[in-house]
Amino acid sequence: MLTNNNEYLNFVNGKWQPSRSGSTIEVFNPANRDEVVGRVQASNLEDLEEAVAIAKETLQIWKNISSVDRGNFLHKTADILEERADEIAEIATKEMGKIFRDTKGEVLRGVAILRYYAQEGMRQMGEVLPSSHKSNLLITKRVPVGVVGIISPWNFPIAIPIWKMAPALIYGNTIVFKPASETGITAAKIIQAFHDAGFPAGVVNLVNGRGSVIGQGLSDHPDVQAISFTGSNSVGNQVAASALKHGAKFQLEMGGKNPVIIMDDADLEHAAELTVQGAMKQTGQRCTATSRAYIHESIYDEFKKIVLQKASLLKVGNGFDQNVDFGPLASKQQMNTVVGYIEKGLEEGATLLCGGESLKGDLEKGYFVPPTIFENVTQDMTIAKEEIFGPVLALMKINSIEEAIEMANDTKYGLSASIFTNDITRAFTFINDIETGLVQINGETGGAEPQAPFGGMKDSSSQSREQGQAAKEFYTTMKTITITPVPSNG
Ligand code: NAP
Ligand code: MG
Repeated sequence: MLTNNNEYLNFVNGKWQPSRSGSTIEVFNPANRDEVVGRVQASNLEDLEEAVAIAKETLQIWKNISSVDRGNFLHKTADILEERADEIAEIATKEMGKIFRDTKGEVLRGVAILRYYAQEGMRQMGEVLPSSHKSNLLITKRVPVGVVGIISPWNFPIAIPIWKMAPALIYGNTIVFKPASETGITAAKIIQAFHDAGFPAGVVNLVNGRGSVIGQGLSDHPDVQAISFTGSNSVGNQVAASALKHGAKFQLEMGGKNPVIIMDDADLEHAAELTVQGAMKQTGQRCTATSRAYIHESIYDEFKKIVLQKASLLKVGNGFDQNVDFGPLASKQQMNTVVGYIEKGLEEGATLLCGGESLKGDLEKGYFVPPTIFENVTQDMTIAKEEIFGPVLALMKINSIEEAIEMANDTKYGLSASIFTNDITRAFTFINDIETGLVQINGETGGAEPQAPFGGMKDSSSQSREQGQAAKEFYTTMKTITITPVPSNG
């Protein structure tokens, strides 16, 4: 049983069990602060120790199962997850507020990721290289790294853990997973699907708990050979420092301050639609969300008018309501941060065009902030520099592609960027000069496909890439094997 009286347990060595600490963390519904969705374990280091030890022990079994068979476990998990899509999406919407349509889409994305990596068990795991010794066979063979620690955020509580777990498992690693505290129940539901798919006990382990205890403990643990982290820059840097100390591999996906450029030749309707979607979808709580719009001065007024009109049509509310476009911010802390940035924007002299105020009436019970758009924003303002992670967009004027790219690149982040133009030369200039890992031409800054590498430049990532074939780099290590035929005496 994964739950005992609405208390969700840890999953270690194939069994659901409570933490030795005897304490739990309450998970609230951000659309209604009075509703406790459930409780997850506030685990201690002994719980973590047990999980890492069993993952280490089980590695010997799991890595010796053929990758084709390992793929079958992933296929089975995908089928189970697909059957339970509504149930898992429901809990995720309750835990972090994202609208049900989006959480369901996320489960189905998880299913697609699992199927992609399940097939990976039948693909190439090495290469044949020419040898300078004509009779030798010189080959490489990909092998698992070992015990992998997974630390994930609350904003994609389904897709992010799965895009880390699926490649880790197919390449023969075992896992200890520490989800964000806000979404520990969704994590338990996902792990239940892995369990029901028949994974051997000890391959997949879930330890809920505070980041400062379990996340830190996982990063510090000498038996964890690789750690995959998605979250904030401050925590990511700590994880990296801990991993380095004991020689573990690490990969970090962190923040963004994603720009769009709208040139004077762009289709303004299309550009405005995707700018608004990019900024406001999922309440702006996507690392790839659009945050800064650099608009050619000759079309600025017209573009602004369309953007404001589109933003005014967005309906904010409970994620279970059919006609709602986006839900609340995920937590009180998240709302306070976003409201703090809005106040800072006003203080520093930006002009508020819409939004900004907290929502009244039925929505007062949740952490709702409406679509908020500023203009007269300068590059040195806080709202132009720091990641807000909320439904807030800054409009700025530019008068050339060169100026736009220079301003877009004037940030420590480098995750995603987009340009709206019908001019192929401008598009190529953008592709060449923009400093981001994800580059969009006439598309939204958000959005990624599971078969394509995902990740950022500069402070947005550790320069590693997740998903697609790129994941193989992180979740495997390599043996270079030389086979020398012994000369026959005959
Ligand atoms: P966070 O505070 O950094 O938390 C991320 C994860 O790290 C959570 O599981 C958290 O646990 C854990 N953690 C906290 N302190 C830790 C420590 N000392 N050592 C190890 N782990 C620790 O980030 P968040 O607030 O959950 O998520 C929002 C951030 O994630 C944003 O900055 C966003 O840009 C970024 N993000 C990036 C991507 C990307 O792919 N680039 C995707 C999504 C989100 P607790 O929940 O228990 O604190
Ligand atoms: Mg956090």
